[in-house]
Amino acid sequence: MGLFSKKDLCPVCGGEVKGLFLVKIGDKKTLCKSCSNQVSMNKGLLENATPEFIREHLDYRKKNAEKYAALRWDVQYTNIPYLKFGVDPGAGFFYLVHDDLHDDENPVVFSFGQLTGYELYRAKKKVDDADTPGETGLETTASKIAGAANLLSDGNYDYFRLKLTTSDPYWPEMDIKINFNLDQLYGLNFNTPFADQIKMMCQMFKNIIRKEPVTII
Ligand SMILES: [Zn+2]
Repeated sequence: MGLFSKKDLCPVCGGEVKGLFLVKIGDKKTLCKSCSNQVSMNKGLLENATPEFIREHLDYRKKNAEKYAALRWDVQYTNIPYLKFGVDPGAGFFYLVHDDLHDDENPVVFSFGQLTGYELYRAKKKVDDADTPGETGLETTASKIAGAANLLSDGNYDYFRLKLTTSDPYWPEMDIKINFNLDQLYGLNFNTPFADQIKMMCQMFKNIIRKEPVTII
């Protein structure tokens, strides 16, 4: 066993495999740091991925970076914890950045036509989807009052769950958890960028799926 035994080489590019948070693919193979950083795909696909599949994927990611650089991100939201999104309403594209989607420097870009499903859950309860009439309301007036009352008790945290389906080959489905403090919805911060941005983002997904014009400010 030499210093560069075969198991230390990246199955995709042949580079040295070392460091933390490396991505594992099918057959328990581990990617090098550089390849790991560029991969962005659904867990199920990754677990069964062959080196050839990853090579094709990395080409796709390069094209994604070009797309990301060429589009005009007029509207970008960053006040939702751990989630960032932007939209180019004219060209009809949006991007998402989240831990699950990995690469912050090369955010995954989707065309409007690729988005096939949108659902929003508050914990386990569905609160909105593309078929829900009207605008995205995070809550009814009654539940707002109940929520505000809850602020006085101890359970101060909750979460939304954003479920999206797309025709993107690497992200057929996304399940994004957005943790928040109740104060962000009901407290002195009510109607702060957090609540507004969730609403706007979800309204955008709704408009896209309904093929309605996307006009967000
Ligand atoms: Zn590599």
